[in-house]
Amino acid sequence: MGITQTIWADPVDYLRVMTPQDPVLFLSPAALQAQGQRFLTGFPGFVTYAVKANPEEAVIINLAAAGIGGFDVASPEEIRRIRRLVPGAALHFNNPVRARHEIAVGVAENVHSYSVDSLSELDKLFARVPLVNGLGQPVEITARFKLPVAGAVYDFGAKFGATEDLATEILARIASRGYVPSLTFHPGTQCTDPAAWEAYIHAARRIAEGAETRIARLNVGGGFPSHRIRAEMPSLAAIFHLIGRVTHEVFGDDAPTLVCEPGRALVADAMALLTRVKAVRDGLHVFLNDGIYGAMAELPLMGALDRIAAFAPDGTPRTGEPQRRVVFGPTCDSVDRLPGEVALPADLQEGDYLVVQGMGAYSVVTNTRFNGFGALSLEMALSLEP
Ligand SMILES: *Cc1c(COP(=O)(O)O)cnc(C)c1O
Repeated sequence: MGITQTIWADPVDYLRVMTPQDPVLFLSPAALQAQGQRFLTGFPGFVTYAVKANPEEAVIINLAAAGIGGFDVASPEEIRRIRRLVPGAALHFNNPVRARHEIAVGVAENVHSYSVDSLSELDKLFARVPLVNGLGQPVEITARFKLPVAGAVYDFGAKFGATEDLATEILARIASRGYVPSLTFHPGTQCTDPAAWEAYIHAARRIAEGAETRIARLNVGGGFPSHRIRAEMPSLAAIFHLIGRVTHEVFGDDAPTLVCEPGRALVADAMALLTRVKAVRDGLHVFLNDGIYGAMAELPLMGALDRIAAFAPDGTPRTGEPQRRVVFGPTCDSVDRLPGEVALPADLQEGDYLVVQGMGAYSVVTNTRFNGFGALSLEMALSLEP
């Protein structure tokens, strides 16, 4: 996506002038940097950004400008992108399964930390990764473990994470080979239950004890929630506080340095989506120019968003009574439908625009060109709320 030089006041300021036919995402650098600051001042440890949530260059650069100094990367492409945009950043290669050529890129680009959840992948690292990287930093390997914990929208443990017993074995081997021994977990995305982190921190202590190893760092993953639904404003401060308190209680004087790697919670509220109403079919079903093959790919999994405002093409807000409607995307696939029904003003008309808040995570990057739609562009805005 190209980035123009223009910075608009807000999405409505843009639509009045441009009346776009294709969907547009707006990035507010101010909102993004403010959220970066919230993590940097609130989280009791080192804050890194999970690049997969939104790898746009403008996102990476603004997070780095806010002071984010580390990045969770999963592929050679993400590694090279961060080295190019933020040359001095710490790279954490936290995809626990890697091809040999991918490990080679990690070594060449001076990755500082690797996570692993199996003995076979650990052996691949042992054979290829020097104890000290090219920047003179001792290389860290973190054992990634999982617990059967509810709380998140979906369970990341279904794919990655060793059991406690296996993680204990992995951690002991990391330490005996001379790498910096650490632990990591990921409670699952959009995790609104702070108790999930608490259970994991207790398990980390048991694993460290079992391996008779003092862990240097504990990476508590991403999974921090964003503001999806008007009625539910999640409290990051409460989660930060709990993580700090429990780590102290559980580890005492042996407390490891904490690391987090949020994706969603850093970027979701830094972008809003402008989508146009293509048709209101027989006054009933609303068809948009964007849908689940576009920027709204994760909605069927994550549930609908309701921070939506409607505007006429001249920018006048639609203020009719909220009416629940079935909303479809533009493709001819029948699953291209937003989950449930969406409350939209009764006076909504063909040609109107919707501004959907909270669209910065897993949107740009999962947009497809299925059926010839998805010509998504990116614009900058001072504010996302008109
Ligand atoms: C996806 C991912 C993240 C980011 O998750 P969010 O829910 O977006 O915060 C962090 N760490 C790892 C290892 C991941 O795979």
